[in-house]
Amino acid sequence: MPGTPYIPESAMAIVAHPDDIEFSCAGTTARWAKSGARICYVLITSGDGGIADPSISKEDAMKIREEESRRAAEVAGVKDVVFLRVTDGMVEATMELRRRLVREIRRFKPEVIIAGDPTVFFPSDTYINHPDHRAAATAAIDAAFPATGQPHVFQELEREGLKAHKPRKVYISVWDDKANTYVDISETMETKLEALRAHKSQMMDWDPGEEMTKWARETAKGKEMEYAEAFKVITLESDEDWELSKGDPVKIYEAREKRRKEKEAKQDA
Ligand SMILES: [Zn+2]
Repeated sequence: MPGTPYIPESAMAIVAHPDDIEFSCAGTTARWAKSGARICYVLITSGDGGIADPSISKEDAMKIREEESRRAAEVAGVKDVVFLRVTDGMVEATMELRRRLVREIRRFKPEVIIAGDPTVFFPSDTYINHPDHRAAATAAIDAAFPATGQPHVFQELEREGLKAHKPRKVYISVWDDKANTYVDISETMETKLEALRAHKSQMMDWDPGEEMTKWARETAKGKEMEYAEAFKVITLESDEDWELSKGDPVKIYEAREKRRKEKEAKQDA
């Protein structure tokens, strides 16, 4: 593999349900955490609709699934887990949800935001993508750009001391054909499986090992890695601007202004 792999200083994964990260991108978050990155998981629902046992109340289901989520995060070396507790099955990409996500982004100031793909409706012949997944992905992307990076948007958050923060990159977790980036998870494949197994209430008698490794191996095909996760990466800030600003939009503005003036001065000379 040519070059050093990209490891951000920090990343925030925003998803609908407690196990969505483990199914999609936990190999990547575990790898980054292992390399010293700060990672935060934002779970929009606590998966309170995901347990079918009628003897378990909705409130208890929420407690069980939050506990499983904390355990899964811990396995991956992730310390920060935020639960927004929107009702499972009822996620909508509203302005209120965008504001709540912007609040978390401005608090944690991630270099990378990881989200799902809001355009996926029919990923296979036997599955319709959960509407919560689409809504959560839309809300996350709309929070990541441009809202969180604009000082005049959600000014009430600025007044709370949560200043605008523009992430460097957005990683959209995708099925193969849209991907432009493959993260080598060979070293963290086992961690990903262990994190997934932490969601005991969802696994029941199914062990994810065989299917998940097969999927990760297929994703890695032809990429000189054994296991991979696929992403469509959108780079919002150039390397140069990121070095200057670390996400502060005012610093980006000032740097661009400076470059413009220097150019003008050169033309005048
Ligand atoms: Zn889900």
